[in-house]
Amino acid sequence: VTPEKAKPVPERKPASGVKITHPDRVIFPDAKATKGDLAAYYETVGAPMLEWLADRPVSLVRCPQGRAKKCFFQKHDSGSFGEHVHHVPIEEKTGDVEDYLYVSDVSGILACVQMGTIEFHGWGSRIDALEKPDRLVFDLDPDEGLDFGDVKKAALDIRKTLEEIGLVSFAMLSGGKGVHVVVPIRPEAEWGTVKDFTSRFARALAAQQPDRFTATMSKEKRKGKIFIDWLRNQRGSTSVMPYSARAREGAPVAAPLTWEELAEVKNARTFSISDGELLQKRSVQMTGWGWHSQVLASV
Ligand code: ATP
Ligand code: MN
Ligand code: MN
Repeated sequence: VTPEKAKPVPERKPASGVKITHPDRVIFPDAKATKGDLAAYYETVGAPMLEWLADRPVSLVRCPQGRAKKCFFQKHDSGSFGEHVHHVPIEEKTGDVEDYLYVSDVSGILACVQMGTIEFHGWGSRIDALEKPDRLVFDLDPDEGLDFGDVKKAALDIRKTLEEIGLVSFAMLSGGKGVHVVVPIRPEAEWGTVKDFTSRFARALAAQQPDRFTATMSKEKRKGKIFIDWLRNQRGSTSVMPYSARAREGAPVAAPLTWEELAEVKNARTFSISDGELLQKRSVQMTGWGWHSQVLASV
């Protein structure tokens, strides 16, 4: 696969008009990080983050009193987020139409932070083509006690197998336990095709190497293995967005990285909200290449 010329990173509106109240409120007691620190982090990584997050229905993990207190997933609007957080009506399986949230700029991200958001999770498609995903995710979920080296090796093997069928992928540390292998695709195939492809892909790997992989969610069947969670690739499912902070110990973040860098890291929480500048500086490399992968529909 030969990547085409890299797409330049478009300019985004600078963050403006979003007041962060209680900037000194401690959100991550263990890391001693405040709401102000979190807002500063998102401001720093906002531009590369929007490459992925912009104009996608999102689920937010909100922890208004910090990660040690009550947190909740929110995907529908309560009308309280203000002008920078937009609404898109989406028809659900039941036939009901619900308003989902999306953001398009740094102000939108910060408006969510102002409302106590720590994590940003996104759909696999964008609002201009909701039925046609623009990325696949293989969320590698290791059984407890499995060595991180095994997870890295699994990610590399999946990358190679994807490459053999013409799909370019990249790795993202989840900020938790695993690695996500992300495949940007042109939004051409619909959800059914994408779900079917990812399901078959995960099942084929598990059938070939049953000692290493499972494609079913059951914890029982995961003993000593990695669950290749392909279920993220369904209409309405979300996965954590690149650069999202995680409401976990140490204020880790979901960090995209090159395959070379993956070889060097020791766990999935290597980067935290204190690494904003580092992540922002190297982010240019991360955009571009994946977007020029081959079309999934031909597989
Ligand atoms: P880890 O590496 O620790 O597994 P992860 O982000 O991959 O971190 P998972 O538990 O594998 O976490 O979940 C995958 C994704 O499924 C999440 O990123 C999130 O988008 C979605 N998800 C998980 N739990 C919920 C939930 N309760 N409500 C909505 N979405 C959820
Ligand atoms: Mn996971
Ligand atoms: Mn999972």
